[in-house]
Amino acid sequence: MSRDTPVAPTAPSRQPAWVDAPSRDALQLIAEGVTEMAGFGIASISVVRDDGLLESVAVAGNEEAKAELEGTRTPVDRLLAELAKADDWGLLRFVPHERLDPSAGETWGWVPDIDPIDDSPDAWHPLDLLIAPLYDDFGALRGSLAMDLPADGRRPSQAQRAVLNRYAEQAGRAVVVALERQALAEQVRMAEAARLIVRRASAQLSLERIIDDCSEALVEGFRSAGVWIQTFSVRGVGRGHVFSAAGTDVALGDDLVGIAEEAAREAWRRQEVAIVAPDRPFLPPVTEESGGAILEFLRGIGVESLLFVPLGAGPECVGNLVLTRLPGAPEWTAADATAALDIGHDLGRAILNARTFEREHRLVGELKALDDYKGQLLATVAHELKNPLSSVLGHLEMLEASPDLTGTTRTSLSAMERGAQRMVKVIDDLLLLSKVEDAANPVIARPVALDDVVASAMDLVSVAAQNKGVTVHVVRAAEPVVARGDADELDRVCTNLLSNAIKYTPAGRSVTVRLEKGDDEALLVCSDEGIGISASDVERLGTEFFRSTNPEAVAQPGTGLGLAIVRRIIERHSGRMEVTSTLGEGSTFTVHLPAA
Ligand code: ADP
Repeated sequence: MSRDTPVAPTAPSRQPAWVDAPSRDALQLIAEGVTEMAGFGIASISVVRDDGLLESVAVAGNEEAKAELEGTRTPVDRLLAELAKADDWGLLRFVPHERLDPSAGETWGWVPDIDPIDDSPDAWHPLDLLIAPLYDDFGALRGSLAMDLPADGRRPSQAQRAVLNRYAEQAGRAVVVALERQALAEQVRMAEAARLIVRRASAQLSLERIIDDCSEALVEGFRSAGVWIQTFSVRGVGRGHVFSAAGTDVALGDDLVGIAEEAAREAWRRQEVAIVAPDRPFLPPVTEESGGAILEFLRGIGVESLLFVPLGAGPECVGNLVLTRLPGAPEWTAADATAALDIGHDLGRAILNARTFEREHRLVGELKALDDYKGQLLATVAHELKNPLSSVLGHLEMLEASPDLTGTTRTSLSAMERGAQRMVKVIDDLLLLSKVEDAANPVIARPVALDDVVASAMDLVSVAAQNKGVTVHVVRAAEPVVARGDADELDRVCTNLLSNAIKYTPAGRSVTVRLEKGDDEALLVCSDEGIGISASDVERLGTEFFRSTNPEAVAQPGTGLGLAIVRRIIERHSGRMEVTSTLGEGSTFTVHLPAA
């Protein structure tokens, strides 16, 4: 032990403890056993860390040595070099100081300040090394138990060696358990980070947001220097984007992007991650050639190693995630790899979701554009028809004024005029519909007295009602009912509802318009005793050009635009309309508008 060359603990704050407190206590007890039961002044147990350093985690014995040794780190290679010269004492290895190579210029760490008790060959020398390398079941070196300062000042007897071997056996088991506990804890910590990432990411629907939200958690969770994420294009071919985090702007060459893409697909098929680091063999999907190119690129940007993770869902690989570490950072562990693969699944699913959402979003946009186009087309056609039609109507009027017309000509002319008037009505409805559908033309809301609205609608429809023999009742509220909106548009709502009610109500029956005042609503209710509307037709009311399937309704002239206009106007006033109806008995249209 006295030959251990400690490496000054650099102790970056993010480094995990290699052994947790309970394991440390267990190892401490074993080290104390060695000092008390086997008669050594000092005993130290170290564990092998992922980065190839042997770290002392339990020291028993005198305070000076304890202070000196606790937490020191020695390269494992150093121990292995010493062991090559050692005598084999069962689990123990002994290197007498005589075998020390002074020309190697080794600088020793803690060396007990004692002299050999005599000149006999079994006297303990301060530079003697007695150590038990501790292996796991697979033959991997996991730690060491070293001791120094024998109480009797002699190299151990056969009997002492037997006792020490038993302690070495115990220490070996305890070290393996401690490291496995730690690995498990590490894995759990990673899984926690992974879950956090997924939870955050899956709430997002845009790829950029997902990646933004994940990057920091990934850097943190994996103690890495940066994250790059490459996603494949939607059809799964070619390349998508390379996102990088931690402030590093990485420009990957086409060759590397190609390598990454191919490797991602292969890694996803194998359900494995890949590690690329110097002095580490390249395992599939990384080949000698691609691995070499990657390492060269990493060297160029000052990065030591990377963990390459395929992203996917089901059979589909959607991209890859690269986590990087700088020189001096710990090596990638099996726990890192397992957690990263889990994240590959979670992120893969989140990316697919985002893609589906983006696709739907695009589709909605396209449909909206199509709808806008349809609206524009209708508006343009209506506009273009309006002028010639006005001219036709003007000429008809002139002709009808002519005194020398025969009866048949006059009849024809008035039939032409009625036709033209109906065309004008359709064109006006189309133009109005396109106006109220136009988002660039919002409602300029002002207080609108609905009593006035009803009165002006009554002026327009009363003649038709009288001609048809339908009575119209108006029921006003106790106080004036005032809505917020556009007076002309609300006039139109009331007129359309009222004229429909009259149109679809047989002679001798009645129609009622009622105004009501709610808390923050103004209500306009138009009910009739007409032909009614079937439940399935009620569902479709307000769709452009929809006319009900009821033959009695179809017999009436109409275009199916009136209620479409009503619906749009109410919508753009942030109101709503309810329709209740019974075939053969009548219908009620209730309009809720925001009160002024
Ligand atoms: P139209 O020009 O056909 O009247 P609307 O858009 O105003 O167009 O109405 C659409 C359809 O709704 C009408 O064709 C009719 O079948 C039905 N409808 C509307 N109002 C009533 C009502 N008060 N009673 C019965 N059916 C109605």
